[in-house]
Amino acid sequence: MMTRGDKKRRNFAAKRGLGYIPLNNRTSGNTGHHINNIHVIYMPDNIHKEKQHNQKTGYNMNEVNIKAFKYLFKHKENMKLPFNECKNIMKKNVNNFSKIL
Ligand SMILES: [Zn+2]
Repeated sequence: MMTRGDKKRRNFAAKRGLGYIPLNNRTSGNTGHHINNIHVIYMPDNIHKEKQHNQKTGYNMNEVNIKAFKYLFKHKENMKLPFNECKNIMKKNVNNFSKIL
């Protein structure tokens, strides 16, 4: 179910020309990272900030996406979509995904 906060985040993403389909639940201290134009993975803010990146240009996106998916699969209890669906999304959005699983 979409909470009011979710709707706010979806609207904010839409203003940036992005979709908002979270792959996991937001927990405190986590930041939403857009792995592509649509999908979001919530990950610890400090890990998200380790590497400057830009979703629009693709700058450092692969590195940050790898960190995001590692976090996602380490915390399966927070996943919102079935594991196989997350795995397929990962394969489409990460190079060298063998490092993750
Ligand atoms: Zn990000």
